[in-house]
Amino acid sequence: MLFEDLSLSKSIQRAVFEEGYTSPTPIQEKAIPFILAGKDLVGCAQTGTGKTAAFAIPIIHNLHKIVGSSKKTKQIRCLVVTPTRELAVQIGESFDTYGKYTNLRQLTIFGGVSQVPQVDQLKKGVDILIATPGRLLDLHKQGFVDFDHLHFLVLDESDLMLDMGFINDVKKIVKLVPTNRQTLLFSATMPMAIRELADSFLTKPEYVSVTPVSSTAEIIQQQVYFVDKSDKRGLLYHLIRNENLSNVLVFVRTKHGADNVVKALKKQGVNAEAIHGDKSQTARQRVLDSFKNKEITVLVATDIAARGIDIESLPYVINFDLPNIPETYVHRIGRTGRAGNGGISISFCGKDEEVYWKDIQKLIKVNVKTIKDHPFPWKETVPNPDAKPDLRNKKKQNGKNNSRKSEASKKNKKRWY
Ligand code: AMP
Repeated sequence: MLFEDLSLSKSIQRAVFEEGYTSPTPIQEKAIPFILAGKDLVGCAQTGTGKTAAFAIPIIHNLHKIVGSSKKTKQIRCLVVTPTRELAVQIGESFDTYGKYTNLRQLTIFGGVSQVPQVDQLKKGVDILIATPGRLLDLHKQGFVDFDHLHFLVLDESDLMLDMGFINDVKKIVKLVPTNRQTLLFSATMPMAIRELADSFLTKPEYVSVTPVSSTAEIIQQQVYFVDKSDKRGLLYHLIRNENLSNVLVFVRTKHGADNVVKALKKQGVNAEAIHGDKSQTARQRVLDSFKNKEITVLVATDIAARGIDIESLPYVINFDLPNIPETYVHRIGRTGRAGNGGISISFCGKDEEVYWKDIQKLIKVNVKTIKDHPFPWKETVPNPDAKPDLRNKKKQNGKNNSRKSEASKKNKKRWY
């Protein structure tokens, strides 16, 4: 299928063509016709699948028709709610890109910065508002946001909003907007809580899903290094220097861990920065921009901070710590190999993480290449990849990890798509 086949207005086709897109991605092919037809929709798709364009393009098409070319006062007709500032900024940029030949105006609002410029823009009038939940409710309470003309409500990254504790805010927002709206809900995973939300917020929704979370893109080369925990920083530095890696996204489990890895790399002269929840929004955006502009060699991130980060052609993802939830591995390595570009994912597996690695392999069902030739192998023997999981070790993991893991396994079995 080509974009021409979607009956989109010429102005959108031109903008999409200038971006270099020829064919819609699978989520776009499935979702765009439903959205154009005015249906509510639940989309199960992770970032990297082209899901932003899957909702932005048909919304722009329909709004362009509604608003026409008249210069009448801008009113908020589309609200996109998303959990983080980074996501909000990326969505705003997408609306700007695909809508550049329309007269629609978008505004992105988020907390952690002064509200004054945002209020000024709201007073001038906007057609599309992209917002994080807290700042949106705040500005609404102060009377700066008017939803009377709202037609589209998009809830983006809904599972992340749930994880980040925004769900009550989202419920409040849904109560504030008109009931005769078109609602689109996107989520990378579909746990029961999200399905319940979809049932209560949407009217007879269509369901579309792409790339189940267990599948890792074939264009990503996956490698694993078995390395003792105490040698991981040494191995990271070794790879960066010897393999001459740059534009590397490194995942760690904790904020403290992220800072420590950055400190160690900086000591060795590597240009590294961390991005995590303890950094201010401004600092996170600054670091992200520098990484995108290739001024930073290594970006060290926690899962929440990195989720949804869209960096074109990110060549390397390194799992410095393995995640204890196997699906997280898939989300992490999905930061590379986007939109058809190849990528390499490198995982460090410590002795205490062997159980996580086995769970990941069970989920992805891909034979990941073990790199044995490196200066920091396990002090004892490298494990036999065919060995059965060590259940004794597994029992020793703390209760939280076990219950999260078994939840993940249950979710796997119950997956609805
Ligand atoms: P998203 O899943 O929305 O974060 O999009 C991931 C990346 O795919 C973004 O960099 C988009 O610019 C890109 N993209 C979206 N749709 C297409 C398409 N139809 N063809 C090529 N690239 C696309």
